[in-house]
Amino acid sequence: MTMNTQGRPTRADSAETSQAATFTGNKALQIEEALSFEIGDIGGCGVDLPEPGMKENRLGGLARDTDIGLPGLSEPETMRHFVRLSQKNYAIDMGPFPLGSCTMKHNPRLNEKIARLPGFADLHPLAPRATVQGALELIDTLAFWLKELTGMPAVAMSPKAGAHGELCGMMAIKAAIEARGEQDKRTRVLAPESAHGTNPATAVQCGFTVDEIPADKTGRVDLAALKEKLGDDVAGIMVTNPNTCGLFERDIRAIADAVHEAGGYFYCDGANFNAIAGKVKPGDLGVDAMHINLHKTFSTPHGGGGPGSGPTVLSEALAPFAPIPFVVHEDGEYHLVETRRAAKSEGESVESFGRLTAFHGQMGMFTRALSYMMSHGKDGIAQAAEDAVLNANYVQTRLRSEMSSAFDGHCMHETLFDDRFLKGTGVETIDFAKAMIDEGYHPMTMYFPLVVHGAMLIEPTESESKRELDLFCDALLSLAKRAKAGEAAAFKAAPIHAPRRRLDETAAARKPVLRWTPAEPAQAAE
Ligand SMILES: *Cc1c(COP(=O)(O)O)cnc(C)c1O
Repeated sequence: MTMNTQGRPTRADSAETSQAATFTGNKALQIEEALSFEIGDIGGCGVDLPEPGMKENRLGGLARDTDIGLPGLSEPETMRHFVRLSQKNYAIDMGPFPLGSCTMKHNPRLNEKIARLPGFADLHPLAPRATVQGALELIDTLAFWLKELTGMPAVAMSPKAGAHGELCGMMAIKAAIEARGEQDKRTRVLAPESAHGTNPATAVQCGFTVDEIPADKTGRVDLAALKEKLGDDVAGIMVTNPNTCGLFERDIRAIADAVHEAGGYFYCDGANFNAIAGKVKPGDLGVDAMHINLHKTFSTPHGGGGPGSGPTVLSEALAPFAPIPFVVHEDGEYHLVETRRAAKSEGESVESFGRLTAFHGQMGMFTRALSYMMSHGKDGIAQAAEDAVLNANYVQTRLRSEMSSAFDGHCMHETLFDDRFLKGTGVETIDFAKAMIDEGYHPMTMYFPLVVHGAMLIEPTESESKRELDLFCDALLSLAKRAKAGEAAAFKAAPIHAPRRRLDETAAARKPVLRWTPAEPAQAAE
């Protein structure tokens, strides 16, 4: 196998692939691509630039006296490099992206068109308020619809992702507890064992300790166990609804009431809002704070690290502690409340816990999300939720003939399988997922939630057609049959058609190579 300077294979190994390896390492349209450092000329440049006409430099002796060491490529080479890299990526525009809990739905092109309008796209966050009234109105209008859909009185728009929204909500809860003078007493936060990892991480970040609530046999919060854990040291509870097993928490009102009775607050993780948007208002369920992932429910693009957007709705009790800045509409004009404390004069918030981000939040995502909402309308949003739930139940029902559902009954927008159907086959969840890559699918979410063994969490979303769903189900059913027919060796070897075979994922996570170092210069070149 040919290795590059980082020990990364640059050519398919002919011994590993049964088909003959090609000279180039390319497989038809799958073209090998090295790092720009490996193919570019250090010091090379793709354009002709005039000599700088500077008489003297004004860098006070700080001018660089060595080469910067960046590779140069011509324009067509640059173009090909990045296009080839982009083609290594699976994308929602290529096929179904069944990652449970992630709501990978189609990103309507209308949203993109609106977000690119110069009046939105070319704004500067420090532009004078009088010149950006339209942008502030857009933030305020989106805020209005988020409050309307959730039945909540306030929303903080600035959090930049779901986890950031959790931080916002938990900081508001902490501020409310401090305002009651109970900060030394209320230090415990309850979270179900099926919680997304960001929930306990957020609670700990805010200085709370986390106490796990067990699930009952149906995959939901065990109400009796929860009640036993309540006490006057509890700051609040963090519950995802629908939960990460794809199930609606039927006792949600009783959970909220019990927590409130004990003097705590109810943080709802709203990442799964897609299942209930337009159908259920979290405000009716006793929620005190809930983030909404615009990049999940409202179709703004995500994956690959962002950009997300996590507006966080707040109850009457938490609203005073909302972060700055926020938009207010007064005297026919939009204003931004930018400062806190000081006196109770106009434009100031006395109790806000402070600022979470430099500016107002993710303007580009606000534009896309509002475009999505306005083009769907209230009925369209409700239908999206209904179709997402229908699609998940269709997939669940079809796959149950060969795969083992983690829980009985219907699901919400995602369906959870465990690895019982693979028992004795020698195939594990990871192998099954790798075999899906060869079938041209991005695997589902694996090994999460932790409450079931070898979890496979599938979320089709409403944007998949029946034809796509049938092909997806047929492919998975065929894999399940092959696993049971004793083809473990083939599963262990998968993926065989991907640009790379199995990588050492543990080493990649534990010892990532983040720095390129040039190869030793060859002696002959001297
Ligand atoms: C996605 C998700 C989060 C975190 O949202 P980010 O935008 O990725 O930070 C939290 N909880 C659940 C259940 C999620 O699915």
